[in-house]
Amino acid sequence: MPQKKIIIIGAGASGLMAGIWAARGGAHVTILEGNDKPGRKLLASGNGKCNLTNLTQDPSCYRGTDPQYLWQIIRRFDVDQTIAFFTGLGLYPKSRDGWIYPCTEQAETVLKLLLMEAEHLGVRIKTREEVQSVSKAGAGLTVRTKTWSYPADAVIAACGSPASAVRGSSDTAIAIAEQTGQPYIPFLPALVPLHVRGDYAKKWAGVRIQASVSLVIDGMMQMQEAGNVQLADYGISGIPVFQISRFAVRAVREARKDVRVILDLVPYLTEAELTGRMEMQQTAAPWKTVRQLFCGLLPEQLIPVFIPKKAEIAAAVKAVKQIELHVTDAAAGRFAQVSSGGISTAGLDENLQSRYMPGLYFTGEAVDADGACGGYNLQWAWSSGYVAGTSAAI
Ligand SMILES: Cc1cc2nc3c(=O)[nH]c(=O)nc-3n(C[C@H](O)[C@H](O)[C@H](O)COP(=O)(O)OP(=O)(O)OC[C@H]3O[C@@H](n4cnc5c(N)ncnc54)[C@H](O)[C@@H]3O)c2cc1C
Repeated sequence: MPQKKIIIIGAGASGLMAGIWAARGGAHVTILEGNDKPGRKLLASGNGKCNLTNLTQDPSCYRGTDPQYLWQIIRRFDVDQTIAFFTGLGLYPKSRDGWIYPCTEQAETVLKLLLMEAEHLGVRIKTREEVQSVSKAGAGLTVRTKTWSYPADAVIAACGSPASAVRGSSDTAIAIAEQTGQPYIPFLPALVPLHVRGDYAKKWAGVRIQASVSLVIDGMMQMQEAGNVQLADYGISGIPVFQISRFAVRAVREARKDVRVILDLVPYLTEAELTGRMEMQQTAAPWKTVRQLFCGLLPEQLIPVFIPKKAEIAAAVKAVKQIELHVTDAAAGRFAQVSSGGISTAGLDENLQSRYMPGLYFTGEAVDADGACGGYNLQWAWSSGYVAGTSAAI
């Protein structure tokens, strides 16, 4: 059989993975990358340390219109296969509570190992080659850049999403969808800080606190996350906020729903426990004001923001455990780590191949798939890259 010619758009996480597996499957692979270098977003991942996957895996970690579809792809190249793959490339993995990093704690290690393997397999990477269109050409496809036309038996669009300020972040996937009639869900920021209404912002800016955030949409409690929350002049940030953000943003932007976050500044004590504790302290130090009773519990800066001067203990406890914030929007897309939305999985077969233009595949963030914070977005990139790469090579 003649060697299959595959063009991959984007030398990011899923494009490199797809390239390696397509080449291992015997295909001739060329990756076209718009940037001057491959893997810029991968280098930025995990604060430069690259949280490449997570030992805890279940379908709820992967979000999109059809999470079951996403889970089927993950199962075909799961966390064990991912760790075995990277170990095979020479990476020594390190677990931090199940979050997997390279032991060097350098994203560069992951990128270098992928590039070494790609080079060894003869995968060609052409940088500064920005793709403009994909079209049918006889029995195959043609990929056009500003200066060149590349014929291909199969094309893998691994061109990511517009999220983040990393150079190369683009909505090329949507442009290709529009050219090819592929259905898609508009991209929106996810894993992103949230803007909230109110006059707290300036007063609380700069505080970091262990807190919980509960997401309430149209009066219905949706989910709760706890951890380090950062209070900023525009609103709230931190991992717990990131975890709820894709649902909050889609509810605000798409459905114009009423979206609230209930912030609990003392999530490790129930209201009754906190009240009991404060009453005990009041008995021991009756000369203290209620605000002073909270001194050993909350950052100084927050006490006057939330506890009224003459509040009783019961009211003060509610005031710090049930702070209702009205979410108005996401912070700008450049602050988002990923996008929700992308190529609709309803328009893809079980191998991520277009039902509208056979031979055209989509991977990574280009697909209507986004993961929770904790290595799930890269796991999706590895799994989807593997599935598209192996399938396109056949
Ligand atoms: C700051 C930050 C930290 C993150 N940390 C983590 C983490 O620790 N763990 C985790 O799981 N996820 C993390 N993510 C998310 C993760 O990096 C992405 O989900 C993942 O890189 C997506 O892979 P991809 O292949 O879909 O896209 P990308 O890795 O973005 O690759 C797409 C490539 O396509 C290229 N491209 C785009 N348009 C064109 C075009 N028209 N022509 C040619 N090339 C094009 C781009 O330049 C890019 O190189 C982080 C993201 C950010 C921004």
